[in-house]
Amino acid sequence: MELRREVFKGQMLLPDRDFAPTQTSVEVRWDPLTGHAARLVRGPSPLFPPSGFDLEALATRTEQTCPFCPERLERMTPRFAPQVWPEGRIRSGEAVGFPNLLPYAQHTVVSVYSPALHFLPLERMTARLVADNLAVQVAFCTAVARHDPAAGWASVNANHMLPSGSSLFHPHLQGLAQPVPSTMQRLLADVPAERFADYLDTERRQGARWLGSTGRVRWLAAFAPLGPCELRAFVPEVAAPAELAGDRELVDELGWGIATALGLYAELGFQSFNLAIYGAPPGTPGYPLNLRMLCRSNLDAPYRSDATLLERLHWEAAVDITPEALAERARDRFSV
Ligand SMILES: [Zn+2]
Repeated sequence: MELRREVFKGQMLLPDRDFAPTQTSVEVRWDPLTGHAARLVRGPSPLFPPSGFDLEALATRTEQTCPFCPERLERMTPRFAPQVWPEGRIRSGEAVGFPNLLPYAQHTVVSVYSPALHFLPLERMTARLVADNLAVQVAFCTAVARHDPAAGWASVNANHMLPSGSSLFHPHLQGLAQPVPSTMQRLLADVPAERFADYLDTERRQGARWLGSTGRVRWLAAFAPLGPCELRAFVPEVAAPAELAGDRELVDELGWGIATALGLYAELGFQSFNLAIYGAPPGTPGYPLNLRMLCRSNLDAPYRSDATLLERLHWEAAVDITPEALAERARDRFSV
């Protein structure tokens, strides 16, 4: 498989070089699975500088009225209808799941890592916390698959901290299930099985973005990222989150990988991320469960959004952290 990339050269006269002619360049890459382009740029200063933002102060301020904290969760969050989950809320370890008051899909779940963890900076995320929360999401997907088999397009997602889209500070995951795929689920489900295999083989052979296999999960830095520091994971022979039910070992392995990635994000100076695990309908032959996760720009002055005209209207991200440099930083953590 060819991983397509092109460098485009331009020229400008720079004020700090006495307006001498200077060459510019931008690299465009195309994702080998969906065709989405990404731009690797180099500016005079980092696009996404580390933050000095006082997250703990925001935690203290938001804790007083938080509906996900222990004293309010039972009273203020919805319960599942008995035909979906008779106990009303789904629990695994410290994690608790309940329907989303703001439903973005036909079936939804919000699950906190723990009611007690209102403040959970990424460096404190553990494999256990992530795996227990994933187990709640898997239980939700399984319950939906049993109660409403037509709603076969499920995903497990995260908006984590401002400005990822999370309206509540208290860290949580979100599950969505519908009879129709999201746009990205459709694009990924349209990829032939042999193309996924070819992509993973190519990346493993080239090595520059390959992080390794943790057993049954393959991790790599995205060739053409959707945003800063995008990491991808693939779980061959599992098409849907519901298929992880009864395989706690695999849930734990995935949880370990996500927690490891979040530790890296913290080390790189980020505290906000988005994550999606894109399911296809259970039993879809040849489709590997896909995970994509990326950082969001820090809330600090001078703030630069990571959702500019390029990301929102041209559907291609501009990043200045190369996938190869990210992989270099990540590789040791994933070598098991
Ligand atoms: Zn809270």
